[in-house]
Amino acid sequence: AFEVLVVGGGPAGAAASIYAARKGIRTGIVTERFGGQVLDTMGIENFISVSHTEGPKLVAQLEQQVRDYAVDIMPVQAATALVPAATPGGMIEVKLASGASLKSRTVILATGARWRQMGVPGEQEYRNKGVAYCPHCDGPLFKGKRVAVIGGGNSGVEAAIDLAGIVAHVTLFEFDDKLRADAVLQAKLRSLPNVTVHTSALTTEVHGDGSKVNALSYKNRVTGEMHRLELEGIFVQIGLVPNTEWLKGTLDLSPRGEIEIDSHGRTSLPGVFAAGDVTTVPFKQIIIAMGEGSKAALSAFDHLIRQVPA
Ligand code: FAD
Repeated sequence: AFEVLVVGGGPAGAAASIYAARKGIRTGIVTERFGGQVLDTMGIENFISVSHTEGPKLVAQLEQQVRDYAVDIMPVQAATALVPAATPGGMIEVKLASGASLKSRTVILATGARWRQMGVPGEQEYRNKGVAYCPHCDGPLFKGKRVAVIGGGNSGVEAAIDLAGIVAHVTLFEFDDKLRADAVLQAKLRSLPNVTVHTSALTTEVHGDGSKVNALSYKNRVTGEMHRLELEGIFVQIGLVPNTEWLKGTLDLSPRGEIEIDSHGRTSLPGVFAAGDVTTVPFKQIIIAMGEGSKAALSAFDHLIRQVPA
């Protein structure tokens, strides 16, 4: 059995396992794949102290650092259920898809999230070649260029406002007949000279020249007319889905399905902590996930030293 069992091997989980192992306590990490979303990222320019790196390179370094410690790594394993301790301070169980089960005195949940995709032709092909999901990460790559933002909720409108300060022109597309963002954001958006808004618009295809995006097709849902817009970038902002399907009914989740945590990374279940994109922490970024993972591990250690041995 473990003292700290980390579920998820992205930046949050890797940081948590390193911090836990450095306390000399029995630490395990179980993950479907190592590296999480970072594996799908090309250029990273906001990982503070490293001017430029690439996703796969950062993941290799992360994995190496985890391997420097006595961390029991269980890769290619999906957790399917969390069973709370039967008695206070008792063992928490994590069930795996393989049928196996792991026991630990504390658990750190770091299963991350995934961007909801448009699901149109060209989106996958041009991912990282003009199709982007993170304006904080990739916005500066489109300096002076034309971009579209897909989605008129708060994240889409925030992204459009953010990008309007960097790029030449932003066209925002919303499927519904009106934007769903807060009124104050909508007012800010409409005050910007280089933003166009299309409502009742269904994006249908991402076009490119084989190496990068050059246009987007969309349908006006009122008239049925098809249009094609020439551009260099497309930011998809139709939701970040936390990987918590397997936790529903076990601990407190926000209405968006994120694990509710307090300032110490504690969840609603004693001995269970959470960190990174899977939680209610604002702003989903690598450096934030790492900080949160480290914090959750220190909180788990703090919890352990306060328990009287059985
Ligand atoms: P994740 O990275 O999502 O990792 C979660 C891990 O948990 C994965 O390995 C997954 O396989 C595993 N897992 C999920 N469910 C289970 C389960 N049931 N059982 C076991 N394991 C499970 N951020 C930046 O700071 N800078 C950037 O430039 C940047 N660019 C990005 C580009 C793209 C294309 C994307 C998608 C994201 C980008 N981000 C960037 C965001 C950043 O990648 C995330 O904020 C960060 O990876 C979150 O880390 P995490 O550990 O919380 O979750």
